[in-house]
Amino acid sequence: MISYIEAIPAFSDNYIWVLRKNDSVVVVDPGDPEAVESYLEKKNLKLEAILITHHHYDHTGGIMKLNEKWNPEVYGPKGGHIQGIKRELSEKSIIKILDTEFVIFETPGHTLDHIAYYSKDINSLFCGDTLFSGGCGRLFEGTPLQMFNSLNKFSCLPSETKVFCTHEYTLNNLKFALEVEPDNLVLKNYYKEVNTLRESNKISLPSSIDLENKINPFLRTSVDRIKENAENYTKQANLDPVEVLAAIREWKDNF
Ligand SMILES: [Zn+2]
Repeated sequence: MISYIEAIPAFSDNYIWVLRKNDSVVVVDPGDPEAVESYLEKKNLKLEAILITHHHYDHTGGIMKLNEKWNPEVYGPKGGHIQGIKRELSEKSIIKILDTEFVIFETPGHTLDHIAYYSKDINSLFCGDTLFSGGCGRLFEGTPLQMFNSLNKFSCLPSETKVFCTHEYTLNNLKFALEVEPDNLVLKNYYKEVNTLRESNKISLPSSIDLENKINPFLRTSVDRIKENAENYTKQANLDPVEVLAAIREWKDNF
């Protein structure tokens, strides 16, 4: 089974997650092939598989180069639109890699093709750009309702599930979360913690489902204070949870 997970930083704020079992690895969303190559070389590891969450280039840019050198199994969303994918996945697909089982969730919102990989074996969720710590992905292609349903799939997972997001957006997200829900004590403490980590350039991830359910406004659209603030922002009354999500997503886009 996979016994070790580590991040390779890429570009300005991406993380390429590396999942290891002995000398074999799987990488998630390898946007930058050079970053992966130098990691593998330095540690003397071999690439067995690639997991892709969605079509954006900062997640897929390394597929072809890594394919050429390693010929790994390459998993990703169905549709045939991402070059290099060898096994197309959809809702409830189950795959086994490095003796570890993953179930696939379709999570449209950020993009329409977005999927996430959840493993109960290792209590881990690889959620791409759908869920970030303290935030969620921008709605480039999907609707607020699609994002709401996608995030719901995550918030129902076991609370101890570790959440591996693909960007270091946490601190910025928490600044916004504090605007939306200023009296949330858990959120205030988490902000301080992440601030300290980022001051010394340390990674803020993985998060957990338990923590996200307590602090992430996009998972908390039924909370009164968040609803009130969303209504103040839109100057509309009686917003339902999906409308609250739409309002705070728009608010965040302009924050
Ligand atoms: Zn993206």
